[in-house]
Amino acid sequence: ESIDERIANNTFFVDSKAHIVLDGSICKDCSDKVCVTACPAQLFVELYDGTVGFNYEHCLECGTCLILCSHDGALKWNYPRSGQGVNFSYG
Ligand code: SF4
Repeated sequence: ESIDERIANNTFFVDSKAHIVLDGSICKDCSDKVCVTACPAQLFVELYDGTVGFNYEHCLECGTCLILCSHDGALKWNYPRSGQGVNFSYG
């Protein structure tokens, strides 16, 4: 089973309040956009105008984007509120 197939087995109890929020004005000027390539769930996408699109709902809460992003304030990162977020399944 591939990593993508394992990730697809996870379920999510989505917090209605986004636990990760991007500052688009910072992302637009970012030259590397490391989040686009580093997120294992592929939740970031570079848009035609140079900004970054993002969907927090299938976040694995791994913290990779927070660790790798070098632009202060570009990401506001918190865990989902209690009991919400990813439910890992390795079956
Ligand atoms: Fe992607 Fe991990 Fe960041 Fe969630 S915490 S958006 S899965 S890199």
